[in-house]
Amino acid sequence: PPGLGAWPARRRLVSPAKTALVHGDGATTTYRQLADGADDAAAVLGGLGVGRGTAVAYLGENSPEFLQVLFGVARLGAVFVPVNTRLAPAEIAHVLTDSGARVLVHDPEFASVAAGAPVTHTVGTADVRRAALPRPGPVEVTMDDPAAILYTSGTTGRAKGAVLTHGNLTWVALNCVVDYDVVSTDVALMISPLFHVASLGMGALPVLLKGGTLVLEKGFEPGRALAAIARHGVTMLSGVPTTYQLMADHPKWASTDLSTLAKLTCGGSPVPARIRDAYERRGLSFSQGYGMTETAPGATALPAAMTRAKPGSVGLPHFFTDVRIAGPGGEPVPPGTVGEVEVAGPNVFPGYHGLPDATTEAFTADGWFRSGDLGYLDEDGYLFIAGRLKDMIISGGENIYPAEVEVLLAEIDGVTGAAVIGVPDERWGEVPWAIVSVRPGATVDTDSVRAFLDGRVARYKLPRHVVIVPDLPRTASGKVRKAELRARYG
Ligand code: ATP
Ligand code: MG
Repeated sequence: PPGLGAWPARRRLVSPAKTALVHGDGATTTYRQLADGADDAAAVLGGLGVGRGTAVAYLGENSPEFLQVLFGVARLGAVFVPVNTRLAPAEIAHVLTDSGARVLVHDPEFASVAAGAPVTHTVGTADVRRAALPRPGPVEVTMDDPAAILYTSGTTGRAKGAVLTHGNLTWVALNCVVDYDVVSTDVALMISPLFHVASLGMGALPVLLKGGTLVLEKGFEPGRALAAIARHGVTMLSGVPTTYQLMADHPKWASTDLSTLAKLTCGGSPVPARIRDAYERRGLSFSQGYGMTETAPGATALPAAMTRAKPGSVGLPHFFTDVRIAGPGGEPVPPGTVGEVEVAGPNVFPGYHGLPDATTEAFTADGWFRSGDLGYLDEDGYLFIAGRLKDMIISGGENIYPAEVEVLLAEIDGVTGAAVIGVPDERWGEVPWAIVSVRPGATVDTDSVRAFLDGRVARYKLPRHVVIVPDLPRTASGKVRKAELRARYG
């Protein structure tokens, strides 16, 4: 960064003998071994012609190889494209083709997917370590050079490739170091997959930047995660509401020693009160975060200590980042007024890969990123998210923000997921419908849902009709595909 010279590349921040990674089987990787592994990966990939600007895709679960390839790719000045392993084959093909990936590095279990992949070379993770190869010298990159392309969840349409620069990833890590007090003695349990931008940018990178330790879980299993917390003295966890809920619902929850846990971060969607309460009963509170792929992803965070004082808020902008709210014409709005959330800062991406029009639309004339989310700032500058611009329902001239109702629906006993959508109505323009998934055996219907909500929200927000489904259609990152629901019920 300007003024910081060669920092931190040439400064020793941590002993090479310190444990960087703890693997699922208890084996460890030191910082020296991680650095050597990155050199090996760079040698193997360099041998395939990977160089500055080449896109290298990675398809695999959390493992030391994931991080070796990430840093090996960076050493070559190439571009890392992590692929969500839960994507359908056609979606994987879209990411590979769209990113222009030449090489695909994959875990052995994805060999058959790799065999049909539209890339020039495939490399199994077992083959990224061949120390005999000559190691390429480091390639100079600047903070403005692309480091990665991460795909958005595809909740509102086709997944878009957000180009993240070295600067974006550095500054999101620094934001976390400052705002979550990441220290070298932190031990972070990586329960979320590293191919998610939150796990990568706000978990792995800040912890490694400070010289802490990552405990890598290959896929999330709540019982195993609880055991790992006690076994490794985990201090830091980052996840989404569902992962936290599955741990609290596990039979081993009550008997697991959680006394080392100090920093819990949760993002991606609002945290239902019942999950928050389950953790508070164990003396644990979350820092809730809000962000998106395009901001690498952290935009705001609510300090855990403010959870009670600012219920429902996603907090203040991260230290090096700023947030403002724009009215329908892009004009500033006063506190308490809902408008579009805009983000600026060194963690904000430069644009979508290969989508110049979408990129132009995504930024204001003065360079702020338009999130597509609605929200307001309170008098103290705390952000409250009201939902997505595209999801807003207008019923009889009143705005309905589905997220407000969905958070309440999630509190109904037996409800496992809820989506509120606008359905066309001759008289009102649109009326809200709730599409709700329930646990088997639970009795939830239109009347009981309306009775629960009555008095909690204005009458015009009460779902006109409640549809019970076994499961909601979701993206690979677990978000409800509302467009699909609107098409089905609209
Ligand atoms: P796409 O952009 O492809 O439609 P997406 O926006 O879901 O998909 P992501 O970048 O993974 O892709 O998700 C970012 C979005 O997630 C935000 O724009 C916001 O709508 C939602 N979000 C993130 N954190 C929170 C939170 N704490 N509370 C409410 N919503 C959140
Ligand atoms: Mg988005």
